[in-house]
Formats: sequence, structure tokens, C-alpha cells
Amino acid sequence: MPGITLLFFLFSQVNIFFSSDTNIKDIVIHRIREAKREIILSFNSFSDREIAKELSEAKERRIKVSLLLGGREATSEYSVGNYLALKNIDVYYDTSLSGFFQGLIMIDEEQTLFFPCDINIISAPANFYLLEVISPQVAKELKGNFQRVLTEAKKEKVIKLSIRKENIVYITPKGKKYHREGCRFLKKEKKSLSKKEAEEKGYKPCLVCKP
Ligand SMILES: [Zn+2]
Repeated sequence: MPGITLLFFLFSQVNIFFSSDTNIKDIVIHRIREAKREIILSFNSFSDREIAKELSEAKERRIKVSLLLGGREATSEYSVGNYLALKNIDVYYDTSLSGFFQGLIMIDEEQTLFFPCDINIISAPANFYLLEVISPQVAKELKGNFQRVLTEAKKEKVIKLSIRKENIVYITPKGKKYHREGCRFLKKEKKSLSKKEAEEKGYKPCLVCKP
């Protein structure tokens, strides 16, 4: 663990959960729901929709959520990065391939969950463990490292999001069409989503703004 002194662990509460006797996904969801201020995540790949939904709900509770994904995820069709960026979550791609951490979740700068695997397999019938370290020092140290990686990763995020913006459309609470931003049929109450999502939900393109 880069930058972390083992000494810190002596003053920490450490819990280990094994997938053979605990539902690790439930623990992760529970911890996300308990967060009060901030959630930081770092995963090589991320396609778990259920956890993504939990993060989007945390964001709605005004919790700051930052996600660092492996560089390859930037082009992955199955990554939830795009979905979470649309929910106003800060999504970054580790373009410097620093491999900051294959898997970790930091909560409220005191609690850190270490995954020996990617988040996608936490509900798969595989044997692995989840390490939980409750220590403000460990979390603080990791957060510093995380932010250093983000200064390299940030640029990719901006480029990525400007490309993705073209795929963002808007719907209204009652309408059956999806629109481009600024269309005269859009009301004050509008919701953004991806074009793909809109089509999957049965919305049709507006004939005026032709999104
Ligand atoms: Zn329109």
C-alpha cells in the first residue's frame, strides 16, 4: 500500500469479511448508505449497476462522490462511468495507468474498504475477502495519494465528457419525446439522460430539435 505506514494499522480497527460467510455486496451497500459527507472509489473496472445506483442516490443526498476508473474503462461499453458522470458524479480515468488501487472505497475520510478484486465480482460466487480499515490516518493518507493521481487523470475526464455531451438528451415529466438542450418544447423541469437510455425507455426524438 503506497504511502501507508504499517504503524497506522496498529491504531486502526480492522475488520475482515470473507465472501464464503458474508454477503460482501450487502456490506458495501450498507457502508455507502451510511456515508455522511464523502465517498471516494478507485476500481480498474466497474459495471455493477446496483452499486452505481447506490452511488447516484448518495449523490442525491448531497454526498460528494469521486470515482477513479482504470484507463481502459474510458472506452469500455459496459462501464458505468458514463452513467455516473451523467448523474453529476466526478468520474476520472487513470490515464497515467498509475493503477492507484485496483479496488477501494473510502468513506467520510475515516473508513476504507480494500478489495482484492474488481467491484463487478463482489456478488459472484467466488472466494475472496474484504478488508475494512477504520482509521482517519489511513484514509487521509490514501486521499492525498488519490488526489495526486487525479491531477494526472483530470484532463481525460474533460475530453471524455465533451464527447459524451453530444449523446445527452433531455426529457420532461409528461412528454414522450426527447430533446436537445435549448429546444422550445423543453420545460423548466427537465431531466438529462443518454440518448440510448431515452430510446430504451421508449422516448422518441423530437421532430423540431431533431436530437
Ligand atoms: Zn425538441
